[in-house]
Amino acid sequence: MNYDIVIGLEIHSELKTSSKIFCGCKNEFGGEPNTRCCPVCLGMPGTLPALNKRVLEYAIKAGLAMNCRIAGFSKFDRKNYFYPDMPKAYQVTQHSLPICYDGYVDIDVGYETKRIGIERIHIEEDAGKLIHSSTGQGSLIDYNRSGVPLIEIVTKPDLNSPEEAKILLETIKTILEYTEVSDCKMQEGSLRADVNLSLRPIGSNTPGVRTEMKNLNSFRAVQRAAQAEAERQARVLDSGQKVYKETRRWDDHKGESLPMRDKEEVMDYRCFPEPDLPPVYVDEDFINEIQASIPELPGMRRERYINQYGIPKYDAGLITQNKVLADIFEKASEVCGNPKLVSNWIMTEIMKRMNEEGEGILHSYLNGDNFGQILLFLDKGDITHAAAIQVIDVLLETGEEPIVIVERLNLRVQRDESLVANTIKQVVNSNPQALDDYISGKKKAFGFFMGKIMAELKGRGDPSQVKEILTKELQRYL
Ligand code: ADP
Ligand code: MG
Ligand code: ZN
Repeated sequence: MNYDIVIGLEIHSELKTSSKIFCGCKNEFGGEPNTRCCPVCLGMPGTLPALNKRVLEYAIKAGLAMNCRIAGFSKFDRKNYFYPDMPKAYQVTQHSLPICYDGYVDIDVGYETKRIGIERIHIEEDAGKLIHSSTGQGSLIDYNRSGVPLIEIVTKPDLNSPEEAKILLETIKTILEYTEVSDCKMQEGSLRADVNLSLRPIGSNTPGVRTEMKNLNSFRAVQRAAQAEAERQARVLDSGQKVYKETRRWDDHKGESLPMRDKEEVMDYRCFPEPDLPPVYVDEDFINEIQASIPELPGMRRERYINQYGIPKYDAGLITQNKVLADIFEKASEVCGNPKLVSNWIMTEIMKRMNEEGEGILHSYLNGDNFGQILLFLDKGDITHAAAIQVIDVLLETGEEPIVIVERLNLRVQRDESLVANTIKQVVNSNPQALDDYISGKKKAFGFFMGKIMAELKGRGDPSQVKEILTKELQRYL
């Protein structure tokens, strides 16, 4: 491609406050339609909104975690549009004076760190949800989401590849989770991104015309949509045509974007100051208090894991992407005393299960303490690798203590020397062909015996012990 890719993201994230932004209704996903609303979030005439202080606190917390400056004075605006998902016919947002501005987030791209500017973070309210009838008989409206608090994070156009866009979104998700301002449940739409993308000839500094793709709700969709859009724009430019500034809809099934037919771009929102809400003054004390409540963030944690636990940067980066997982790693390392073993098992057995069954497994029976105990058994040679996997499986199902599972299923490694020696003798005697092979120099026979013996010991033999005794036993025939 003869072009540089330029991307900026607008990321919407629902804040996990207990109540909505301007009323006392419950802020919770789902529920019977229209059971979590009141005259305020239904936009009835004559009602007055009152800002939820937690929303302000969470927005500032997110801003500080992304190195933003916090506005001492900000205000709300009405963004007017008519659509049934918004019963007031306007959305309350911060158009002209956002609460946070001028920040940055560092992302890891390969071995390099790249700094991505954060233009602004502002507060706004979410709209209701339209459910279109599949039979074409009309649409149903659920206002439970109406008035759910959101922050919109707007990046500078500093991203230069679809991969960087994906990594930035992953990084921001992690920051929002660490600061506990959002659940970031992408499948529930609580984190979604708009991708703005343009091309410019390599080396040129003149920005190209950009398009915007709205409401992408997975990392994969962001990366694929950006890739496809870059290729589409390149084809347009290569054929001597112009790219139009437009909003496009990404179809993840088809893998292509189409222009949106709505009048998004020509629409005039007529933003004006919201008269029902006073402006927001934030003092230093409030900001300092919030600053003090920000926990160690993923980047810092990763450095600490490298230094304190001596695990590779790669491991540390992967584990710290998920706060709960990182907490499990720390506790388990403490319990078992072998951080590298813990990180290996997290990156294989735990991540495999997270991929298959979802992150829910980190919130049920598994915790750093019992995971550490399992790995301590393994590290001491009390159970085998296969048995450790079995204990994890059972624990995830029953929640029993590892020691209870090990005893109940009789998983302890069998080290009774005379029993092991007898088993070995018996296996060697009952396989004369393999013994002949071994005597005639075929070393593969040794592995055959190992397999048979371990099976006879029901997988509970200690491989190094079995190997030692077997070697001695076979020696007698040479
Ligand atoms: P608007 O007000 O039209 O939404 P903004 O200036 O707020 O425009 O920018 C919205 C998003 O578009 C930001 O994330 C910004 O980084 C991105 N953006 C701006 N210019 C470009 C460009 N030339 N190419 C790609 N993205 C861009
Ligand atoms: Mg925009
Ligand atoms: Zn309400």
